[in-house]
Amino acid sequence: MKKINWYPPVILGLLALLVITFGALVVSTSSKGPTQHFAKGSDQETFEWKLVTTWPKNFPGLGSAPERFAKKVAAMSDGRLKIKVYGAGELVPAMGVFGAVSDGAAQMGHGAAYYWKGKIPAAQFFTAVPFGLNAQEMNGWLHYGGGMELWRELYEPFDLIPMAGGSTGVQMAGWFNKEINSVNDLKGLKMRIPGLGGEVLNRAGGTAVTIPGGELYTALQTGVIDATEWVGPYNDLAFGFYQIAKYYYYPGWHEPGSILEFIVNKTAFEKLPPDLQAIVRTAARDANQDMLDEYTARNNRALQELVDKHGVQLRRLPDDVIVYLKKINNQIMEETAAEDPQFARVYKAYKEFESQVVPYHRISEEAYYQARELGDGDAVAD
Ligand code: CA
Repeated sequence: MKKINWYPPVILGLLALLVITFGALVVSTSSKGPTQHFAKGSDQETFEWKLVTTWPKNFPGLGSAPERFAKKVAAMSDGRLKIKVYGAGELVPAMGVFGAVSDGAAQMGHGAAYYWKGKIPAAQFFTAVPFGLNAQEMNGWLHYGGGMELWRELYEPFDLIPMAGGSTGVQMAGWFNKEINSVNDLKGLKMRIPGLGGEVLNRAGGTAVTIPGGELYTALQTGVIDATEWVGPYNDLAFGFYQIAKYYYYPGWHEPGSILEFIVNKTAFEKLPPDLQAIVRTAARDANQDMLDEYTARNNRALQELVDKHGVQLRRLPDDVIVYLKKINNQIMEETAAEDPQFARVYKAYKEFESQVVPYHRISEEAYYQARELGDGDAVAD
């Protein structure tokens, strides 16, 4: 019994030691508290960025992506990263976006990589390749198929980081004032069509020009150009092309799933704390998907309005014209790859991805599209 009496003091002693140790920990933690808070406080630095775009301010679809991006970044960062969006011509002209962000005059830009083909021919892969990957496949290639790494390499020498900044889905072939019944109808045609599609038109006997969206209506109206492509029904309706062009052609062979881009000045990006960097990346990824969702929801209604209300004549490009354009495109791709090692490297990677994804999509996406149409219009069997 006597032995047992020894225990309470020992336990009490141990408890006291625990209390003292715990107390010391509490004191030391709380004394560290303000220091830690202060350390964290330095992360509370706020940043104000400029984002320049190749689109008119608040233009539907393409132009609303950077606005939504900026709002999401402000909300996610609790106002620590404020991004002001400038429309084409407000701070720099549409085609000056790449240079302005590269120089650091603006920290970010929104546009399309194929606008910079004069500087980097291989940049065109990161918008669209005629007869190439669609929206779903482009997103797969960029984010899980090695495409983004190649894109980053291309922009690295310009102190730029690219991010996918929206997708239009398959575009329309464009607006014409004469019917395209054969390849001869392409000869002498002066058309706004950027990127690789433009090079195809040039070789088909036409003249391709790159004019920013905001100047297109006037160019077509005044006869500076005979025809134009832009995006698809939702965007084209907003531009009012139906007022000055009669025929609306499909499919958009030249832009089967165009990806827009955000470009970020690398030096400015690296000055952001990691959480703000993650917010920029996440908001860009969100804007990328958001645009495709919006087009998917709105294109069809806009097309109905164009046809039913404005009397637009919808036309499909004849098969022989499509086959001809495809043949020319293959020649151009091979020739450009032979001249430009950087283009060749990206082309090889793009084709490798394509050779994997297309056969599978033949038995998944494509087979499903066909299955969905099967039996439509047939009488129901008794
Ligand atoms: Ca286009």
